[in-house]
Amino acid sequence: MRLPSDGDHSGRTLGDEEIELLSQVIRSGTLNSTRGTFVAKFEKQFASWLGRKHVIACASGSAAVHCAIAALSLQAGDEVITTPITDMGALTPILYEGAVPVFADVDARSLNVTAETIRAQLTARTRAIVVTHLFGLPAELDAILQLAAERGIPVIEDAAQAFGATWRGRKVGTFGTLAAFSLQQGKHITTGEGGLVATDDDHLARKLFLFVNKAWGYGDPKPDHYFPALNYRLTELQGAVGVAQLPKLDGVVARRREVAAALRAALAEVPGLHLPGDPAHGTHSYWKFAFFVDPQRIAGGAAALGKRMQGEGVACAPRYIQKPAFECELFRDWRASPVTWLPLQHNARAHGPMPPYTRAQYPGAVQALDEVIVLPINERYEPAHIRYVADVIQKGAQVLLHA
Ligand SMILES: *Cc1c(COP(=O)(O)O)cnc(C)c1O
Repeated sequence: MRLPSDGDHSGRTLGDEEIELLSQVIRSGTLNSTRGTFVAKFEKQFASWLGRKHVIACASGSAAVHCAIAALSLQAGDEVITTPITDMGALTPILYEGAVPVFADVDARSLNVTAETIRAQLTARTRAIVVTHLFGLPAELDAILQLAAERGIPVIEDAAQAFGATWRGRKVGTFGTLAAFSLQQGKHITTGEGGLVATDDDHLARKLFLFVNKAWGYGDPKPDHYFPALNYRLTELQGAVGVAQLPKLDGVVARRREVAAALRAALAEVPGLHLPGDPAHGTHSYWKFAFFVDPQRIAGGAAALGKRMQGEGVACAPRYIQKPAFECELFRDWRASPVTWLPLQHNARAHGPMPPYTRAQYPGAVQALDEVIVLPINERYEPAHIRYVADVIQKGAQVLLHA
């Protein structure tokens, strides 16, 4: 069976609305946002959807994280606490702003950082905490926000995978000082590439705007380039698609929650699986359906079951990312690039063990990656697709079940 894929039309909610607004942009002849109207409209409408004062659009989710980090005006060697299980686009911006990424372990069942794992990494140099709501599951925000407030450290929510997820009835992306979203092809809504940064702080919003615009003071009496920054603008073409996508977002999230609930029901009796669900104080928005396989019950664990699923045409990713981010090649030799080496030279960790992070320090992340299977679902899954996927998982688990 061919399953709907977010890589093409089958698994995306794109249609005449996007085509109509795109045509308007092309007929207008204004394809960039400095003179156009669609990006500005998209920012305003997204701010209203999210419930935040300011939203700035930018070229990608990586750019959105970069903008959020840059807005905090860090000093060389300052530390930003983040997660080892995330998109690399959420990590390299820390380095490009002269700061050192410090990895907090994740909870092996939520795949998210917790107040305890963050606390273990706090130092006198900590200047920001990035909280990633992985796969659309809200992190345990109460304790994290309390800890951050006690220490006076700003939180950046990485909500790239968590559009429409809620915590205590409020959307994630409204809790941190700043929040970043991605509009890349595979996210809840898409403009092909693109990103959004949100804040309620006027001063930070101004810095975000400048960072997207080479820090050129548009509209100022004596504009200048105030600090180093890039051209991270979203185009009007993307802005038009965003304006058309946004009214569909609540429906997309609702559909994904239905698909996940149906999958959960269909898999409830399969032994050896731990299925995702809503946390006690929030709602999951299911960017992916990440479930865990108990290797004590299922022979060969996630790797063996994932292989069987792939053999039956169910695309999935045992392990999600193959290894914790700090084991990626760019972190193996911090001296190899000035981007990694310069921040470290302004930090005491330069005199410590090299590389600074090893898997023995991250039991939660190691266990999570060993046991997880990331199943791509989307809003276009019909009951027949769900039945097929659940069947394949159930049969695979049955064959591998320890006697
Ligand atoms: C996708 C993603 C990013 C990066 O977004 P891009 O648009 O691909 O640059 C950052 N953080 C997380 C958690 C993501 O899933």
